[in-house]
Amino acid sequence: MSNGAEDVVPVDEDERRAWEAGLLRESAALGDGLWSIPVAIPEGTLPGTLAYAIIGQDGTHLIDPGWDTPENLERIERTLASAGRGLRDIATVVVTHHHPDHLGLAERVRTLAGARIVMSAAERRVLAAAVDPAARDPESYRATLVRWGVPEERHDELVASFARPSLTGDVEPDLLVGDGDVLELGGRRLEVVETPGHTGGHICLADRDARLLFTGDHVLPRIYSGVGIGVLEGGEPMGDLLASLDRLSEFDDFTVLPGHEFRFTGLAARRARIAAHHLRRTGEVAALAAELGDRSVWTYASRLTWTSGWRRLDGFWLHSALRQTEMHLGLVRSGRAAAWLSRG
Ligand SMILES: [Zn+2]
Repeated sequence: MSNGAEDVVPVDEDERRAWEAGLLRESAALGDGLWSIPVAIPEGTLPGTLAYAIIGQDGTHLIDPGWDTPENLERIERTLASAGRGLRDIATVVVTHHHPDHLGLAERVRTLAGARIVMSAAERRVLAAAVDPAARDPESYRATLVRWGVPEERHDELVASFARPSLTGDVEPDLLVGDGDVLELGGRRLEVVETPGHTGGHICLADRDARLLFTGDHVLPRIYSGVGIGVLEGGEPMGDLLASLDRLSEFDDFTVLPGHEFRFTGLAARRARIAAHHLRRTGEVAALAAELGDRSVWTYASRLTWTSGWRRLDGFWLHSALRQTEMHLGLVRSGRAAAWLSRG
């Protein structure tokens, strides 16, 4: 992830400043029963996730409850208490995707409150694949390295960095949703908008009446989220991501409630900037394709420019570079790249 330049307008300057200072703000009432609840991420580089609560006559509903820690659960409890509710009132937990900083607390809340967990059907398949021990199998990873054309002497180093355990446990949702489905929660109608790319089954939620769009990790105001972090076999995440950015054009004048950082307006500019960020790399790969043709991912990667230099990349960072190259190459070879690249 890296930072982009100014192209969005924060809804609340204090929220933006707090994020930039690396601080977790207190929860905030956003009106009409909607709450923003910043919850902490105990590892990695991001300080927190923005969970959202919708409090209505029909119960309390959470969007992306955040990482499973006692402190985060307590934060949610305190927020609900200030609105005269308790954890046991939580009826629904909707998740935009399966990553532990979003799905994390869902199972605990279901156990505590009997809440139903809602996820897209596609993300359920992605999660099942992610928690499958086969996904961590060093032998199938070695086969990937061979397919990528990685020289034999670099295999052990890559396999060693790959062998970390999954951060996510399996969760069986109570309700599977898909594009266009409407969830009626707390007097709001939240329309499911499928936006694969960050993960294969990522969704956004659109409240057309209030002109709000919950974007999870699909669109963030400054950060460029990773692509293809959980996909199904045969997927083409880079093309999916670009299509999912286009998909949001009908919501360009909505207020965006993202999964990290801060709420903002200016979705059109942000979508364009994120697409351009990825397409710069796609363009580099497309330019090489004339010369390199069907050569390996390794060959392509070794010819691209890398911030810390190709020769210095090792372990996880080398893996990440190869994976990125594979995704851009996948887009170029799919024939979908030309249309986006010609848009300039
Ligand atoms: Zn996230």
